Amino acid sequence: MTLTTHTLGYPRIGVRRELKQAVEAYWSGDIRQQQLEQSGRELRLRHWAEQQAAGLSYVSVGDFAFYDHILNLSQALGVIPPRFGHDAAADDLDTYFRMARGRAPSGQPAAACEMTKWFDTNYHYLVPEFQADQRFTLGNNRLEDEVREARDAGHRVKAVIPGPLTYLWIGKTFSGGEQTHADRLALLPNLLPAYGELLARLASAGAEWVQIDEPILTLELPTAWRQAFETTYNQLQSTPAKLLLATWFGSLDENVSLACGLPVAGLHIDLVRGAGQLASVLDRLPHHKVLSAGVVDGRNIWKSDLSAQRDNLREAHERLGERLWLAPSCSLLHVPHDLSAEDRLDEALRNWLAFARQKLDEVTLLARTVAGTLSVCDEQALADNQAAIAARRDSTRIHRDDVKRRVAAITATQFVRANPYPQRAKAQHAWLKLPLFPTTTIGSFPQTEEIRKARRNFKAGQLAAVDYEAAMQREIRYCIERQEALGLDVPVHGEAERNDMVEYFGELLEGFAFTRNGWVQSYGSRCVKPPLIYGDVSRPQPMTVAWSQYAQSLTDKPMKGMLTGPVTILQWSFVRDDQPRETTCKQIALALRDEVADLESAGIRIIQIDEPALREGLPLKRSQWRSYLRWAVDSFRLSAAVVDDSTQIHTHMCYSEFNDIIESIAELDADVITIETSRSNMELLDAFQDFDYPNEIGPGVYDIHSPNLPQTEWMVALMARAAEKIPAQRLWVNPDCGLKTRRWPEVEPALANLVAAAQALRSRFG
Ligand code: GLN
Ligand code: ZN
Repeated sequence: MTLTTHTLGYPRIGVRRELKQAVEAYWSGDIRQQQLEQSGRELRLRHWAEQQAAGLSYVSVGDFAFYDHILNLSQALGVIPPRFGHDAAADDLDTYFRMARGRAPSGQPAAACEMTKWFDTNYHYLVPEFQADQRFTLGNNRLEDEVREARDAGHRVKAVIPGPLTYLWIGKTFSGGEQTHADRLALLPNLLPAYGELLARLASAGAEWVQIDEPILTLELPTAWRQAFETTYNQLQSTPAKLLLATWFGSLDENVSLACGLPVAGLHIDLVRGAGQLASVLDRLPHHKVLSAGVVDGRNIWKSDLSAQRDNLREAHERLGERLWLAPSCSLLHVPHDLSAEDRLDEALRNWLAFARQKLDEVTLLARTVAGTLSVCDEQALADNQAAIAARRDSTRIHRDDVKRRVAAITATQFVRANPYPQRAKAQHAWLKLPLFPTTTIGSFPQTEEIRKARRNFKAGQLAAVDYEAAMQREIRYCIERQEALGLDVPVHGEAERNDMVEYFGELLEGFAFTRNGWVQSYGSRCVKPPLIYGDVSRPQPMTVAWSQYAQSLTDKPMKGMLTGPVTILQWSFVRDDQPRETTCKQIALALRDEVADLESAGIRIIQIDEPALREGLPLKRSQWRSYLRWAVDSFRLSAAVVDDSTQIHTHMCYSEFNDIIESIAELDADVITIETSRSNMELLDAFQDFDYPNEIGPGVYDIHSPNLPQTEWMVALMARAAEKIPAQRLWVNPDCGLKTRRWPEVEPALANLVAAAQALRSRFG
């Protein structure tokens, strides 16, 4: 007897990002729709074949999308906002792309749907836009066709769809184009018949199971939503499809009885992020139900310890027998596709890793291990797995006593500046002598083709280090000259030498590694290649000092040095699973602390530590926010609180919804914070109704993502609004984010207007 195995989803983009190439070629008119469809088909067939070759009992159908799987469902259900045309056919690809990005080879351009992060991942989905009188009508749907396609290819099929409650939860309601706060649950009675029909169609197309994703069951849900689960699944119960209710990204906790009791055929739980929930689920699971145990980490890239997993599953297997299924913890969408595409990683490190393709093998090998049906080959594979786990546990490349000792020796005083802000401000203003409403930018200036070419050639070994350095110095010089000419008060060096704000530091720190093809879909055709933090982090030598010092040598104005903060570096990497995130974060913070100290001694006495990812690190359960915020804030402070009173620490964040964590942001105790606000029309400032932000702040006055030239009067008006809430003496004038994605001809007039706005404000408030 073997156990049933499956995956909750698989990367769709292709090991060489084939999907990206195909959709981008279609958007630019280089291939026709038929060819795009053909590329999609090939990818699906290949990915199902990989699942079958790994020995999974079912292939997953429904994880493919040309842009986003939530958008697929919206279109299938007819959730298409009126601005895209009322007669838009439910399976029309160009309507789909217009919803995703505002335009497509055919059809009228319209404002794209909003995109936002999928739970706490870096995957972005398109937010369903529900109208007040939203109807849900199932049109032709691609998913049914894909089920047939998989059947025809000889696979046993499990279809995958987002569950109705999760689908409503992640959407927003609109009326006449404006967002409303109408109750999304009110749409449920309309939605359920469409779901019923969809399920019936999937079953008749040949899906033996339908995995219905309800990850919101791992959140702290309002009572009405919890109750809606019972009504919903009672109603869907009559469907001919066998339902596997899937939950992930956490433990069911207070929803465990609810989830176990719903009238479905099976339940999937995440035993990586909800490792402690197995016993309570086993106690509550009715006797006829399947339990799919998510044991292989779908959010990280490390090999699983298969013998430890076998031991964890022993009791479950005794109690459930064949009703125990095995799977990754969540969809493998969040990890790179195939380790065998990595030809540059060194052997030792490679041997500790498993990407999506390898995780499938882990699932099936574990199934045979649990069932006790190991072949000779399997025995060897299991022994190899154990050897890799042991090698990683004991590796001297990972474990550095000096780093561990330093973290253990951190004292409370290292988190605090010598004196509170008012005293520091005096010391800073005394030498800075900045005007009222000082102007600055967020760090990066346009990354020109010339810069990218120099970097490429340098990396490829075609440009000598001295020549590369000279090329970057030319860029820095140009950037400083432009800023001088514009009259900006606090210049920056422009970050020409950085391809990416995390990768740049990762490459210079010990304990980081980089893949060649470790792409993970971020949104649509956009993929990222997160660094791997595999070992104790240390800084062999200064990382930014020479560039900042060179820039300072070119100007009499005070240069602002530029670093990426510890939380952001952590958050945008694959991290170790053998120690708490907090510990890794503190190690990074100590490395940055040394950099901050070195910058200060080199005469750079304004230092910005960017933390754009602080908010996205928030745990999904609100009850866990406090403890996260504690160590996240402490890590930032550990990096910063090494300087003299007179050295000014800045930080930057780029999200506008920070009202709920404003106190933690204040606790960072940065002397100056610059933040994105222009898109939300200074909505951020509402936070200051009830909370006096104690230090200086630069509420971004124009949206760098927009190609429109910001007008001086408009920026003056925004700042005047800010000055109603915050004393003018504590306000800075700056764009809302870095300028690297813009071109110089856009940046210069925008900044000229910004400087003019500051001058107007000075005469008004001075
Ligand atoms: N200093 C960075 C830049 O200007 C900040 C980027 C960010 O906020 N994401 O590019
Ligand atoms: Zn930003």
